[in-house]
Amino acid sequence: MQQVPALEDQRLLRTTSYVDGAWEAGEAREVLAVNNPATGATIAEVRTANAADTRRAIEAAHRAFGEWRRTTVKERAGILRRWYELTIEAAEDLAVLMTAEQGKALFESRGEIQYGASFIEWFAEQAKRADGDVFSGATPHTRAVCIRQPVGVVAAITPWNFPNAMIARKVAPALAAGCTVVVKPAEDTPLSALAMAELAERAGFPAGCFNVVVGNPQEIGAELTGSPLVRKLSFTGSTAVGKLLEEQCAPTLKRTTMELGGNAPFIVFDDADLDDAIAGALLSKYRNSGQTCVCANRFLVQDSIYDEFCERLVAATGELVLGNGADEGVTQGPLINTEAIAKVTGLVNASIEAGAECVMGGKPADLGECFYPHTVLRDVTPDMPVFRNEIFGPVAALTRFKDEAEAIALANDTDAGLCAYVYSRDIGRVWRVAEALEYGMVGMNEGIISSEMAPFGGVKASGWGREGSRYGMDDYMDIKYLCVGGLDR
Ligand code: NAP
Repeated sequence: MQQVPALEDQRLLRTTSYVDGAWEAGEAREVLAVNNPATGATIAEVRTANAADTRRAIEAAHRAFGEWRRTTVKERAGILRRWYELTIEAAEDLAVLMTAEQGKALFESRGEIQYGASFIEWFAEQAKRADGDVFSGATPHTRAVCIRQPVGVVAAITPWNFPNAMIARKVAPALAAGCTVVVKPAEDTPLSALAMAELAERAGFPAGCFNVVVGNPQEIGAELTGSPLVRKLSFTGSTAVGKLLEEQCAPTLKRTTMELGGNAPFIVFDDADLDDAIAGALLSKYRNSGQTCVCANRFLVQDSIYDEFCERLVAATGELVLGNGADEGVTQGPLINTEAIAKVTGLVNASIEAGAECVMGGKPADLGECFYPHTVLRDVTPDMPVFRNEIFGPVAALTRFKDEAEAIALANDTDAGLCAYVYSRDIGRVWRVAEALEYGMVGMNEGIISSEMAPFGGVKASGWGREGSRYGMDDYMDIKYLCVGGLDR
């Protein structure tokens, strides 16, 4: 069944890779079917790119870098700003396209387009602020100056869970810094990436500055990580693939940004405002059907409020509506594909077998092959699979704790270190716990924390580098020290 999404501007639906300013059919001549996870219908067929196409994209980016790096910051800011404006004008089409290929509820897709665009707008502004520094000279006749320069060609490999924003968060700061980019989007969601390239072309980026290659991840990944022309890899995805890519980048010693998986604790103390905590829990847990790297993965709830929190969470979760994300009133769409269903089912079943009690959901829903219902598990212990692994599905796993020390120990009992949440009205406790948590980001009485103005990123096995904020361009710039001598002559 073929079901092409109806867009006001049908030219946003591109089905070939974008290399050196041209829409290329690709040498591989193989076709990738893009399916709607809610209906199973094919919404488009994309001609894939292979290693040779990727090499051409890298060479084009390398050629374009020579000119792009010499443009003034004002010129770069202007084109980025235009890209932002075109994105906002096309927001509804981009959201419809995203829901069709990714499945998330339409209001969430609309939110993601605005969120992604906010990074383009922000880095259009930040482009003008990539200043250097002047230091004291080591001798009377010298002065020390540092300037910032773009690293060169950047490869960006991105996941399907935020098909627009994960690209915008990398490409906008890279282009603002004067770098050029080759993006490899996820095979499940290439259409959002190609639509971004279409708008970037209209905005006026010169050919070769922004390339998108769609195709086999291993083949394209090997080319991007192996090429000496690529100076930097920015990756968002699983920790397992991040480790592999890091190895592949070692021979050419590329700089890397690694935005990897999470296993977020959501700690609720007995002095928390429970209305706030439940509202935050719903947002943090079920957004994108639980498929975000910052989703609450483990609810750690203090003994005396454990039963009440569980009951209230089940009641509030019962208000959510699972269905086709394009339908009115639906709050949660399907999971991305049947492998995701198998993974979530496996983690839930194994945890129930190990002694967790399922108080809601727990079996794939009867709406289509990619639907998993909102699920709540209680009496989860640290040895269980839902505690140890990133679930990436709409499953709330509840564990009880006695005191602050135990909450911190449980929260840190994982390799991951992306995002954590703490709910308590005791300001001293919130600070103490936030400082003790081994995470790159902490929501303090807040369930949604991402913004273009704040630094997003993790520690430990969640990776390194920061996206967004005034630090967001640092990953795409080298610092060059200039020692100015001869001042005495
Ligand atoms: P994934 O399997 O690691 O895939 C991410 C990207 O890597 C996709 O484009 C994928 O291509 C590509 N890829 C896979 N194997 C590759 C290889 N051998 N060589 C080169 N590229 C390869 O992750 P995912 O399942 O799509 O995304 C979910 C993960 O991303 C979760 O762990 C989540 O926490 C993490 N994530 C982290 C952040 C953050 O900011 N820290 C944000 C969002 C998501 P194909 O899709 O075509 O296979």
